[in-house]
Amino acid sequence: MDRTCCVVGCNVRSHDREGKKLDNGLSFHRFPSWRQREGSHVSDSTKQRRQAWIAAVRRADIEFSAIPSFLLVCSRHFLSGEF
Ligand SMILES: [Zn+2]
Repeated sequence: MDRTCCVVGCNVRSHDREGKKLDNGLSFHRFPSWRQREGSHVSDSTKQRRQAWIAAVRRADIEFSAIPSFLLVCSRHFLSGEF
């Protein structure tokens, strides 16, 4: 599956135009989920992390409560597991 980083100014892709996987050593991550599902608990720190991601992505078109699930952030933006 072709993945693209959604961070402004970052155009990292997982695959090239021919659909070949790029060997760039990067991984792609979804935004931390914040919605509480049955049997699971979303902590305040998870919500804060989501807010931090949104700030770091710097996109005007996403909101805390409405982030499309296809938006991914590549591992270039992480320092030891955090933004
Ligand atoms: Zn990126």
